[in-house]
Amino acid sequence: MTAADLDRADPLAPFRERFLLPEGVIYLDGNSLGALPRDTPGRIEQVMRHEWGDGLIGSWNDAGWVQAPQRIGDKIARLIGADPGEVVACDSTSINVFKALTAALALNPARRVMLTEAGNFPTDLYMMQGIAALCPGAQVRTVAADAIARALTPDVAVLLLTQVHYKTGAMRDMVRITAQAQAAGALVIWDLSHSAGAFPVDLNGCNADLAVGCGYKFLNGGPGAPGFLFCAARHQDRVMPALSGWFGHAAPFAFRDDYAAATGITRFLVGTPPILGLAALEVGVDMWLEADLSLARTKSLQLGARFQQAMEPLCQRHGFSLASPVAAARRGSQISYAHPQGYPIMRALAAHGVIGDFRDPDVLRFGLTPLTLRFGDIDAAVAILDDIMTNRRWDTPDHHARRAVT
Ligand SMILES: *Cc1c(COP(=O)(O)O)cnc(C)c1O
Repeated sequence: MTAADLDRADPLAPFRERFLLPEGVIYLDGNSLGALPRDTPGRIEQVMRHEWGDGLIGSWNDAGWVQAPQRIGDKIARLIGADPGEVVACDSTSINVFKALTAALALNPARRVMLTEAGNFPTDLYMMQGIAALCPGAQVRTVAADAIARALTPDVAVLLLTQVHYKTGAMRDMVRITAQAQAAGALVIWDLSHSAGAFPVDLNGCNADLAVGCGYKFLNGGPGAPGFLFCAARHQDRVMPALSGWFGHAAPFAFRDDYAAATGITRFLVGTPPILGLAALEVGVDMWLEADLSLARTKSLQLGARFQQAMEPLCQRHGFSLASPVAAARRGSQISYAHPQGYPIMRALAAHGVIGDFRDPDVLRFGLTPLTLRFGDIDAAVAILDDIMTNRRWDTPDHHARRAVT
């Protein structure tokens, strides 16, 4: 089918109008920083001028600020198969990884190993290493993805995995791995940074213990938006938070000297919630609640298959190789290609209005966000890439120069 036919028939096509996108740009990086929803600037203006400017400190009570982490958490819960009261929107994903890992160690005190896969997103690995240095006896075990099952020995307290690999887009089987790890006596933490807002997730359907995820990627919460933390209801009141801040206290405004954890998911809060960031995140999440995530998944599979097919001749001609699973169903909402000149090629693409990103050492990553992308964008992006390769437009000193963020 032609791209125009597919775009006309696309039930999600009207969502594109709900975003503010620059003219002439094909944005294939919504997996790293989601696009700006049209409603966000107005909402932020309202929070600043009315809730903050006019309402001042009274807005903690009157504008629902103090409940924002739980309220937005309950909304995110609907996108990831959790129940109300199991998710809070708070802190960065890195901090939430720390909270989830220390909670899992506390829930499984006879075991001390934190297991993960080599090549997991760096912050997940670094947080484990920091906890191992901080907590006597705690150890990190990092193994190849296909060795996880064998590494689930009786000393493993917790398995931390990212459901969709940030570099390759490979999607893990959450149901099978969770069951396998729990059968071996370990708890499981899922990092949903590349899952939430990309396709339907069913945390409770697979009996997950804990999960974390990002607000600024597929959820369109804005740069540095708060992340989220899920803790299954069955565990919540059994764990003392390692980051025992006053917003997780049972009575923060009693100002007592001694910590007493709140009941439920609230105990995973630490300090004062960032209201401006949460307000922007809530706009993105509200929009997602209007979209049908299974339609989004269907479209992202189609976008990926079209991209892959269009890239085949370029693989032959220009030396790209697929760095993602071949079967679309085994990928999240992105597709990656390896090329030895990946960095300058990605810079040249950006200079020609096609924005993706580069991950060391040689991976070009293309995010497929079904609410903003048209099928025609896929064809156009690959045609621009073909032109850049054929005419060596990537080979300029400017495109070779590494910038701080790749
Ligand atoms: C993007 C991402 C993060 C980001 O963590 P921050 O604390 O928000 O910087 C963490 N984990 C994974 C798997 C990611 O993809």
